[in-house]
Amino acid sequence: MPTTSRSNGPHQHKTDEWPLERLETEIEHYVLDVLETYPEAFETLHRDRVDISVSRSLYRAGGYCESELDDPPSHQIVVSYPAYRHWGWGRVRDIVRHELCHAIVFERYGPDVDHHGSEFRSLADRVGAPVKGESPLPPRFELRCGDCERVVAGLYQASARTENPTKYRSDCCSMPLVVIENQSTYP
Ligand SMILES: [Zn+2]
Ligand SMILES: [Zn+2]
Repeated sequence: MPTTSRSNGPHQHKTDEWPLERLETEIEHYVLDVLETYPEAFETLHRDRVDISVSRSLYRAGGYCESELDDPPSHQIVVSYPAYRHWGWGRVRDIVRHELCHAIVFERYGPDVDHHGSEFRSLADRVGAPVKGESPLPPRFELRCGDCERVVAGLYQASARTENPTKYRSDCCSMPLVVIENQSTYP
């Protein structure tokens, strides 16, 4: 008996969504667009010092920027593939502009600058980037009561319970659990 059922989640996804590598390429092109569109905001930030990657396992944030204050500084911007699957390309572009703001604020004010402080906010304003992060992604696994279907737990990573849900029983009905994997967000 299968213990994992498939769910399309709250959003129906088109089959033409980009695979991870393609998303990476699109983001790279988009970074060039952004730097060209806002030359004053990003004047000192050169494309060659910004490395882009997309991660399948990043689910705690839509993206982040890790900066090294070398001479010249360099930046690694990581974007969540699940975030792209869940929110789409429009939101990924917001995330990229947000992370580019972190890169330039880091270069201008150093590593001790307030993360989302006034320097960040005024720059984000100029390039139309959201100041706040995203709301959390839906969990990858939902454990439900096998009888009444009440949600017992939402988990981002596989665990003993998601591997062998029928070995565990729900508090509500004392029935074996079932696990539903959100495969549209976490392909
Ligand atoms: Zn931020
Ligand atoms: Zn129940």
